Amino acid sequence: MDFPIQSLIDEEQAQAWMLNHFHPQGLSCPKCQASVSEARKFRKTETSGLQVYRCKHCESIYNLYTGTVFAGTQFRPSQVVLILRGVCQGVSSAQLGRELGISRQTILSIRRKLQSSAEAIQP
Ligand SMILES: [Zn+2]
Repeated sequence: MDFPIQSLIDEEQAQAWMLNHFHPQGLSCPKCQASVSEARKFRKTETSGLQVYRCKHCESIYNLYTGTVFAGTQFRPSQVVLILRGVCQGVSSAQLGRELGISRQTILSIRRKLQSSAEAIQP
């Protein structure tokens, strides 16, 4: 039996989860660190549906993925949560790719980036 787990995850909930984990101090401008409350809502990304913000102070544009290994990708929030879950649980790149409809190569590349950033923050 297949479990369509991706379609069972609410995109808003996935974004809230990422905000907590990626930006525990709250979302802010990557350039001048002004809070997201000092940014204008600019547009939404087409595929991932993320809100894009433009900083009122320095005009920088950013979203929830900015400054993370997912910056510049078009994954939906539910896909990001499930990629992280799969990598943490040691699911193979091939299986994870199949489950999420993402190529194995892409999963492998994200896995490597996650591993090297995890190593970078080790003492
Ligand atoms: Zn700024």
